[in-house]
Amino acid sequence: MGIMEKMRLDGKVSFVTGGARGIGKAISIAIAEAGSHVVIVDVDIDEAKKTAQEISGLTGVKTIAINTDVTNQADVDNMIAIILNEFGKLDIAFCNAGICMNLPAEEMTLDQFKKVIDINLTGVFLTSQAAAKVMLRQGKGSIINTASMSGHIINVPQPQCSYNASKAGVIQLTKSMAIEFAKRGVRVNSISPGYIGTELTLKSPNLKPLIEKWNDMAPLGRMGRPDELQAIAVYLAGDTSDFTTGSDFIIDGGFSCF
Ligand code: NAD
Repeated sequence: MGIMEKMRLDGKVSFVTGGARGIGKAISIAIAEAGSHVVIVDVDIDEAKKTAQEISGLTGVKTIAINTDVTNQADVDNMIAIILNEFGKLDIAFCNAGICMNLPAEEMTLDQFKKVIDINLTGVFLTSQAAAKVMLRQGKGSIINTASMSGHIINVPQPQCSYNASKAGVIQLTKSMAIEFAKRGVRVNSISPGYIGTELTLKSPNLKPLIEKWNDMAPLGRMGRPDELQAIAVYLAGDTSDFTTGSDFIIDGGFSCF
């Protein structure tokens, strides 16, 4: 069997949190094109349903959308119950939902700090833990968390200490779980994108003036596109990455090199 055939995900079952739009949507499209059934997990259920329909129309795989707040344990338990009821197994989990707040450290309130940590770090913990429980029972599974280059470098000029701290946390959480599960068939890796054009970066009016600055700083002179994360997502999801665990993949057009 050739490498492209080996990379296919036919018959696998995956969930993608924050899958309704942006990076999560691009990942969902990619793994569906590779043959996996896809569960779109999001707080924006209307958009999640639209994305699920679009993907099943494009690829023919089975898709469902589940209204889930990744910070809520009951929601996450319910999501797993629905997936097991519909598909009977879970092979691949993308814990991707995240938000960013640009606020000076000395002005940020405790609630603002906690909101970012809750979604970006605790949400990844809850959803990857829930996935791991199923996968450890199965003796097989792949978990992929979305971290960020902000887990490695400090973005400038905008202040975003809670985001940077949350993403550094995701990278270490990923490695910790990878080591705990290594001998039991469950792999855990993270993807650390650089600036990618999505609602997170493009839709917020206060970020628009920053985009020119980021592009000036960027070795490739531009932001990335969500589709530029699709190949690494398919690789990490499937069996050709069986020797890959506890790794963080920086896909940032060289941004964090200096
Ligand atoms: P986005 O805002 O376009 O999409 C995020 C999705 O997550 C949305 O569909 C939103 O409804 C969902 N979501 C938010 N809170 C949720 C919650 N509590 N429970 C469930 N779903 C929730 O953002 P994006 O740019 O696609 O970002 C996706 C991930 O990639 C995030 O973790 C983000 O930090 C990370 N990331 C983004 C960039 C970038 O430049 N865009 C760079 C590095 C990392």
